[in-house]
Order: sequence, then C-alpha cells, then structure tokens
Amino acid sequence: MRKTMIVANWKMNIATSRDAERLSSEIGRALWKLPEEVEVALCPPALWLQAVRPKRGRAPGGISVGAQNIHPEVSGAFTGEMSAEMASDLGEYVIVGHSERRALFGETDDLVAAKVAAAVRAGLSPILCVGEPESVRDAGDAGDAERYVAAQLDAGLASIASGKGLNCVVVAYEPVWAIGTGRAATPELAQDMIGGLRESLRARAGAVADETPFLYGGSVNADNIADYVERPDVDGALVGSASLDAESFVAIVRGAMRAAGIRYLPESGPAG
Ligand code: PEP
Repeated sequence: MRKTMIVANWKMNIATSRDAERLSSEIGRALWKLPEEVEVALCPPALWLQAVRPKRGRAPGGISVGAQNIHPEVSGAFTGEMSAEMASDLGEYVIVGHSERRALFGETDDLVAAKVAAAVRAGLSPILCVGEPESVRDAGDAGDAERYVAAQLDAGLASIASGKGLNCVVVAYEPVWAIGTGRAATPELAQDMIGGLRESLRARAGAVADETPFLYGGSVNADNIADYVERPDVDGALVGSASLDAESFVAIVRGAMRAAGIRYLPESGPAG
C-alpha cells in the first residue's frame, strides 16, 4: 500500500540555524508518532540539515529529512557542491530536477538523470520533479503537456530504469505555472497528469509503478490539500510557501491524513 506523503521544500528561506531548529521542532511536536501509512519530510537549505535532523536520528513515526540538491559525483574538486553520499549522512531524501533548478541553473534532463542515479547509489530516495511550463500548456492541447511531462519522467529515470533503484523513487508533478503563484492546478488536472505518468511508468517498469508515490506540487495549502489526496493517484504533496509556517504545514499534513482516511489521534507531542 502506498503511503500518504507530504514534503516541505523550504527553498532558500529560514535565515538562521536557530530558526530552522525552531520551525522543525514546532512541526515535530505537533506531528509526533505518525502512523506508518504517513511519511513527512522536511527539506531545508543544506546548511540547516543538521539543525533539522532529529537529535537521535529518525525514530519510527518521526519526520524525515531531505536535501534540495546534490552533485552527481561522489567527491572531488567541485567547490560549493554536496554529494549524495554527504546528504545521506543527514537525511533520507533529496529533491532532484525542481523547475527552479532547471530554469535558473540550467539543469538538463541528463544532469537530472545523473543526480537521480547518484541519490539511489547513496541510499537516498530521490524526489524527482517534473512539470510543464506555462508556454507548453498554452501552446497546445492537454496531450502536449502530458507528453512533455512523460518525456521528463522518462529522461529523469534513464540511468536507473533498467535496474534496481526504481523502488525508492518519489515523483512530484509540479506544473511550473502553479509554483509559488497561488494558481494551483485543479485536482482533476493533477489526477489526469499523475494517472498518465503512473501509466507510462507502468508501461516501462511494470508493477513498481503501483508502489511509487506520486505527489502534486504547486500552491498547495491547508484548504486545498484534501481535494488532491482524495484523487486515486495523488499520494500527497510537495509544499513550498505553505511549509514555512508550522501551523499551516501541520494543517496540510493533518488534512492529508483525514482525506486519506488515516486515523491520527495525538494532538501534540512531549514538550521540548
Ligand atoms: C515548490 O516549489 O516545490 C512548490 C510547490 O512551491 P509552492 O507550494 O510555493 O507553490
């Protein structure tokens, strides 16, 4: 059975390690002893991975940690970069191929594929982001956007598709026009796109597609999360802006659990 999954992408926000620690502790106190059907991960700036990571490592029912980016090489002369192996020392996930990295840092499908393979090599679960820009959606029909995104998924998995490793991949469908704009995709569109992506993964890789978590991302908040999670192929969300406030992020996680029919009783965890 697929888990319900909510991932926070803090991007280049949260100014100090103390703020990162405070935000993650607030979230951790409100969401402790999570049921096993739920996975919550926080992806802070790399410098704050240590501050966000639970002090005694990830306990059962605890919140996971992920990086926002990695370099595909294991080590070497790559000033300013961080390898998957380094990220795996502090976390379980890494976001790969986010549209901001594709658009602002020129990341190609080949580089994204290399990063996905590096993540798998290091034992991290890559959260592979795909999504069409507004120009693609406006230029043609829905089929064009579907083909564009399916090609991105195909390319992103090129280095691992034939081998093991697929079973730890998470896919996030994030239409670029919905990210940070307040213009969330309709739940119908998210379901159609994710259903199509799951189908194309099934055609390529078989039954693993039914176990792969597919997330929607783009202006998700506490008011709209349930509409996505209620769709059969949408397993959760990748959340940007609304993950920067503990109350709104916790409300998203609780809303997702309710929508998925998951019982969760603790209202708050132990102090401290
Ligand atoms: C994102 O950047 O991955 C994202 C989904 O951002 P937002 O929730 O702010 O649209």
